[in-house]
Parts: sequence; C-alpha cells; structure tokens
Amino acid sequence: MPCYQISVDGYAACGKSTLARSLARELNFLYIDSGAMYRAVSLFFLNQEINPLDKNITSLIEELDISLSFPNNESRAIVHLNNRDVTDEIRTQQVSNQVSQVAAIPSVRKKLVALQQKYGEKNNIVMDGRDIGTVVFPNAVLKLFITAEMETRIIRRKKEIESKGREATYDDIKNNLKSRDYLDSTRNDSPLKKASDAVLLDTTNLTRKEQLSMVLALANCRIH
Ligand code: C5P
Repeated sequence: MPCYQISVDGYAACGKSTLARSLARELNFLYIDSGAMYRAVSLFFLNQEINPLDKNITSLIEELDISLSFPNNESRAIVHLNNRDVTDEIRTQQVSNQVSQVAAIPSVRKKLVALQQKYGEKNNIVMDGRDIGTVVFPNAVLKLFITAEMETRIIRRKKEIESKGREATYDDIKNNLKSRDYLDSTRNDSPLKKASDAVLLDTTNLTRKEQLSMVLALANCRIH
C-alpha cells in the first residue's frame, strides 16, 4: 500500500517542528525533522575544521553516515553522525550560524534528499523543512507552508533555547533568523518557497492547540 506524506515547510522558528511533531503523533505517522540532517552535516564540517566552501567536499559528503533512530516510539529522533549520537550538539548557535551555507551545497542536498525520500517510501510521515513540498515529496497528500511575524519568531526561539539551559541574545537570534531566511530563500538549489498547492498558515496569533486542530482537520479530509 502506498504511504502518505505530509510536508511542513517554512521559515526558521515559525513553529514548524512543534506542529509537525504533534500532527504526526495524532495521526500515528512518523515525524522527521529534515533540518536535523543538514545540521548534522554542518556539525561534521565544524568538528573537522573544514570550510565547506573552500574544499572539494563531494567525496567527503558521499562517505558521511547520517541516520535517525526512533527509540521507544518517541516522536523526536536520535540523530547519528558516523555512528555517534549528535542530537544535542546539532542545536548549538555555532551550527545554526553555519547550517544555511552548508545546506546550499548541491552535493549535500542530493545526499540528504535521497535519504529523506527513503524514509517516505516505507512510512506514513510528516516531514518538516524548506523544500519538502517542492522537491522531496512533490506528491505529498497535504502540503503546509508556515509563517509567523519576525518578533514572534525571535521570542519563541529565545524561550526554546533558554528552556534547554542555553543562552542567546535577542539580537543574535534575530540576525541568525534573518540571515538563514535570506540564504535559504535565495540559494540556487531548492530554495525555500511555498509550493503552489501548499496551504499557507500564519501562526503568529494562533495557539499550538489551534494550529493543530486546523491542520488535523485538513489532514483528515485528505487521508480518509
Ligand atoms: O529546520 P532547521 O531550522 O533546524 O533547519 C536548519 C537549516 O537547514 C535551515 O536553515 C536550512 O538552511 C536547512 N534546511 C534545508 N532544507 C530542509 C531543511 C533544512 O535547507 N529541508
């Protein structure tokens, strides 16, 4: 039987992952955060002290082993980079500051898109990212494109970082979100954009519960 894919794309810190994870839980689908994979590749370059823009990195990328595991049916996957758990390390500000440059490299995208599509072949999934409805799953049964006002996004991201015991200033977060938005939507390969058949959802004035009930209603119409 073919599997269902639901794509959740949009700018950084608009609430995509929270929404995608809750939707997956309600539908009993697998949730995959494709951004975590780009973060893992970025962490690799930082740890190896390689400037991804300076070197010929194609063979390094081909050899990289990135995989996800889903212990105890938890909705957040463990991210493995060359068999090492990097789930927490990929969330640092250092990774956030470099990831969009790494994500613009075509050989990186080629490898990760293939991996993402593999997960979608065998599972009903909700996947969030930047190009899921346009490139990874162009035939997704439901495509969502999430936006929110910049101020709301900064405050949400600051709370999220602080809840993990880390610190980041308002200005650092703002600069990071702005620069990622710019790089992600202007790159040549698979830029962030709304698929023509995606449903646009502005989460600025919606609670998590309201967002979930809206997208759940849409999903139920499409898959039943
Ligand atoms: O989702 P998250 O904000 O963690 O993603 C980190 C970065 O990974 C994004 O800013 C973007 O550069 C890249 N990304 C991407 N395509 C995806 C998912 C993430 O280019 N499908």
